[in-house]
Formats: sequence, structure tokens, C-alpha cells
Amino acid sequence: MKVLEARNIKKYYGKEPNITKALDGVDFSVEKGEFVAIVGTSGSGKSTLLNMLGGLDVPTYGEIKIQGKKLSDLNDEQLTIFRRRNIGFIFQNYNLLPMLNVYENIVLPIELDGQEVDQIFLNEIINMLGLKEKLKSMPNMLSGGQQQRVAIARALITKPAIILADEPTGNLDSKTSRDVLELIQSTSRKFEQSVVMITHNEHIADLAQRIVRIEDGKFLKTGVGENEKIRE
Ligand code: ADP
Ligand code: ADP
Repeated sequence: MKVLEARNIKKYYGKEPNITKALDGVDFSVEKGEFVAIVGTSGSGKSTLLNMLGGLDVPTYGEIKIQGKKLSDLNDEQLTIFRRRNIGFIFQNYNLLPMLNVYENIVLPIELDGQEVDQIFLNEIINMLGLKEKLKSMPNMLSGGQQQRVAIARALITKPAIILADEPTGNLDSKTSRDVLELIQSTSRKFEQSVVMITHNEHIADLAQRIVRIEDGKFLKTGVGENEKIRE
């Protein structure tokens, strides 16, 4: 089953003659439980693509479905709710709320949704991510790796079908990057979540099951084993 399907996505900024084709016809789909890395240099269109896939911005052309639902069929309010329930976001800068402690940051998406926190699931996540001793800490007391683990917990708490991660290790040293990536991998396996991660770091991309390359707003068309790699 496909968790995500994007067809012929284009995103243009500006107007002729100064138009920037940030995305120029991207087709992309993600299976349940699949971990995909999108790799490209700065300016290749990675962030733009992730923003479209997550419904944070609207493509100029093309259609995106998540869990079979067309994002363009949702109004702003419906989209906000849909995003919160179906997509977990992880960002380079963690995006934790500085005035809330670790526990409050993690459960925020559930509270915003007016739901009860599933304490058993919460404990499971907290244990997996090694955050048990940190629940009362404020984000600014934590290292980068710890802050990213909190952000991962917050992304997982709603049990989303898909995690979208934008340079999740961009601010971390290589050892911590690997640890964080391994956590994302093991939680995605355990909870059967798909992950789409963008990165410009080949070593980080190498940890994914599949690597897709983007250049000048287009996916490079290649066979498996060359630029696109699929690993069991
Ligand atoms: P990446 O994430 O791979 O660095 P981006 O998606 O941020 O690439 O950018 C792709 C291209 O689109 C770049 O040329 C960038 O300057 C341009 N771009 C991105 N966002 C905007 C915007 N809001 N307005 C104008 N141009 C943009
Ligand atoms: P990243 O580090 O993920 O590649 P960037 O620093 O390229 O991100 O861009 C950060 C944000 O700024 C993006 O979300 C993008 O929409 C916006 N942006 C990028 N390039 C431009 C641009 N030329 N004009 C306006 N906004 C831009």
C-alpha cells in the first residue's frame, strides 16, 4: 500500500522572465514502512519538495495524496488537522517550544488535537529514545542530540503513517547523527512508519533503504544500483 503518492509536482517561484522552477515535474511514491532519503545539493529543491509533501505549501501543478487522501481536497483547517494526525515532522533546528518542558513538547500534538495521551505508548517512546530522565528539563538545557530525540518523540506520539524529516542531523556531529538516524530507523520499523528524509549528506543517506537524487528540481532517472539504490 502506498502511504504517499506525488504526481508531476511542479513548484514555480516568481514570474517570467525571472521564474525559478524549484520543482519541475517530480513523481514520487512511498510504500508503507519504507525509509527513503532524498539527496541533493543546496538549492536542488529538497526543502520545497518536503514542504509540498507535508502540505506546508501548495504545488503550482500536480497532486499529492497521503493515505489515499488528496491534499488539495482539504481546506486550511482540515489540512492542519490532517497533518497533525497523519504526518510527523522532524526539522534540522528541532523546532521545540522553548517555554515548554520535554514532556509538554512531546505531548503537544495530542493536546492540540484535544485527545488523551496514550500513556503506555508514550512510555514506550520515551524509553526507546532514552528521555525518561529528561521529561522535566527545558529544551535549552539539552544537547542537540537530546533535543532531536525530543522532536522525534513529538513526531511519533500521534502514530503518524509517515515521518517527514528535513536535514534531521544537520546540526549534529557525525556520531550523534548516526545515533539519531538509528533511532528513527528503529522506531519506523517498530511502528511500521514510512520515513522520507532529505539530506545533502551522503553518509546519512546511505542509512536509508532507498536513495533518490534530486537536481535542479528534477529526480535523476537512473536504474537501481547506480544512483538509485534499494536495499533490503
Ligand atoms: P534545497 O532545500 O535543496 O536547498 P530549496 O527547495 O530550498 O532547495 O530551493 C530550490 C530553489 O527554489 C532554489 O533556487 C531556491 O532559491 C528557490 N526557492 C525556494 N524557496 C523559494 C521562495 N520562497 N521564493 C523564491 N525562491 C525560492
Ligand atoms: P535548506 O537549508 O533546507 O535548504 P534554505 O536555507 O534553502 O533551506 O531555505 C529556507 C527557507 O527559505 C525555505 O523554506 C524556502 O522556502 C525559503 N527560501 C529559499 N530560497 C529562497 C529564495 N530565493 N527566496 C525566498 N525564500 C527562499
